[in-house]
Amino acid sequence: MAETTAKGKKSRSSGRFGVRYGTKNRKLVADIEEKMHAEYTCSKCGAKKIKRTGTGIWQCTKCMHTFAGGAYVPQTPAHTTVLRAVQAEKLLVSEAKAAGK
Ligand SMILES: [Zn+2]
Repeated sequence: MAETTAKGKKSRSSGRFGVRYGTKNRKLVADIEEKMHAEYTCSKCGAKKIKRTGTGIWQCTKCMHTFAGGAYVPQTPAHTTVLRAVQAEKLLVSEAKAAGK
């Protein structure tokens, strides 16, 4: 139950836990769930229809494009780093091919 006090809304999605598990844990769950249920854009069709189907599994409900991502967010900072490294490697390979022929 979302309880509104003079200091603002006290509980978010973790309000379902009532007074259990401690403030910090309820806050962590709410923070993660907010990111998890946020709108994400599909890389294939561009629709904001990305839903989490399981831990690290994300699916576009419009074009059914399924991909692996973070456990609670479709793209993690590590993902970005790896992608950049892969792109650099691809560029090197294509340059080497062009120089070899
Ligand atoms: Zn899509």
